[in-house]
Amino acid sequence: MIKPYDKEDILQILQMPDEEFRGTVMAEAKRIHREQNDNTLRAVAMLGFDNICKNQCLYCGMRAGNNTIQRYRIDSATVVKSAQAAYRLGFRRIFLISGEDPKYGFDNLLTMTEQVKKVGFWISMACGEFSLDQYRALHEAGVDEYVLKFETSNPQTFDRLKPNTTFAKRMKCIEWVRESGMQLASGNIVDYPGQTLEEQAEDILLMKKLQISWAPVIPYLPAKNTPLAQEGGRGSLEKNLKEIAILRIMMPGINITAQQPGENSAQGLADEEGNLNALEAGANMLFADMLPDTLAKNFSVVDNRITLGLEHIQKMAGLSGMKIEY
Ligand code: SF4
Repeated sequence: MIKPYDKEDILQILQMPDEEFRGTVMAEAKRIHREQNDNTLRAVAMLGFDNICKNQCLYCGMRAGNNTIQRYRIDSATVVKSAQAAYRLGFRRIFLISGEDPKYGFDNLLTMTEQVKKVGFWISMACGEFSLDQYRALHEAGVDEYVLKFETSNPQTFDRLKPNTTFAKRMKCIEWVRESGMQLASGNIVDYPGQTLEEQAEDILLMKKLQISWAPVIPYLPAKNTPLAQEGGRGSLEKNLKEIAILRIMMPGINITAQQPGENSAQGLADEEGNLNALEAGANMLFADMLPDTLAKNFSVVDNRITLGLEHIQKMAGLSGMKIEY
């Protein structure tokens, strides 16, 4: 059995024929999750509370230059009410996510965090780049884990895809998240236009080096009215599954996003086959949207982000034979 410990091992798996991969590495990743993590499917409530963003990331449907989506900003009192509803449904983990919207106000963010914490949640948050002091304040207010993706370990590509920041700054912010005491969730975009297998292998090694708690990875999905959509289509589902399996084998205890696309692009991340394949490859985490559908569909980093509820998670747990953990 190949153990993906170094770049050569990882490249060997990324180049493996699909059938061989499924019978060996993918089966091994699933076995590890079953034996070491009790085969649990982690259910998380998700609240995209603000889709306004000052940045122009080349791949993102919420980039400032995209005038074709309806923008919204939900006040902290409404977020807390939604969090209470999620708690009543049984959720104990919540993921609070927004674009980089300076007008939301950092104090508002802290107030919201404190109140959501009081509801009883373990909190993951993704609101972009801040200073070390701000990360510390978020941690003190109740954020347990902060999501700051590096997207690619190639500094030149990062600087091109994210023109409002730099790779150096992103890595500094990632260091600050760790220093603040929060757990770090981070990862890459799999198979964006032009990505090489060598780069994907380097991305995987960087996740290991950063000792991430959650790998929020998905294949590249072209979003309408974005510059990167002109450069190529959807990333490979197979490369994505391979990455999930490698991550599970390398870091058995982390969370890995199972909300993954399948062959039917119209189903977006809600594709049952895509979700089930990811669970079979060792992924373990699914999200339920806590916003009304009309707003949630505009939280659109990628296209066709069909909103999902608890029923979807329960169905996936039933079909995969996994136990839901809230
Ligand atoms: S990826 Fe994040 S920072 Fe970049 S445009 Fe989209 S919401 Fe803004």
